[in-house]
Amino acid sequence: MNTLILKLDIAGQPVGWISREEGALLYCRDQVAWEAGEQVVRLHGGESRLTGTRSFLDINTIVATRSHDKGLLSKGDVPCLTNKQLFSRDEYMCMYCGKQYGNSLLTRDHVMPLSRGGLDIWENVVTACRSCNQTKDNALLSEINMKLIAVPYAPNRAEGLILTNRRILADQMAFLKTRVGKGSRLRVAA
Ligand SMILES: [Zn+2]
Repeated sequence: MNTLILKLDIAGQPVGWISREEGALLYCRDQVAWEAGEQVVRLHGGESRLTGTRSFLDINTIVATRSHDKGLLSKGDVPCLTNKQLFSRDEYMCMYCGKQYGNSLLTRDHVMPLSRGGLDIWENVVTACRSCNQTKDNALLSEINMKLIAVPYAPNRAEGLILTNRRILADQMAFLKTRVGKGSRLRVAA
């Protein structure tokens, strides 16, 4: 199990996932400003010849570094649109018939078809099963009386980080969920 560490900037904004080794480097370079996780992962070092003991380093699962991530606000706040992340956003559910499918049976549907000037952006794409996608074809929903079961939206960075890591620890998930956008389906009902 390769647990990833959630890296934050000093203001607590999520920056990205890093490996345990990269996390260890932050500790060694004294770049960890504060910790927010409830768990630690232990990284073992070599054995001491003198004492026979093994060194280790405990790395918190959520660490804030001393630096501000300057690029964070200006760019990269919205994750790239890939089918993998799109299906994940929509929980592998066809947004027309509401059934869940495996990857191979799902497609990216453009609500406003590309042929009619629709854009390939998060707000205009939904997960659709092959059958619904074929039925819809190049029509507008109003023309063929189809309805979306949820409105498409662009995930913010925190949600993007949830969508890209399948092995999120409970404390990391709880932290990120408080920072997902208003329209997100991952938002916890308060
Ligand atoms: Zn469908």
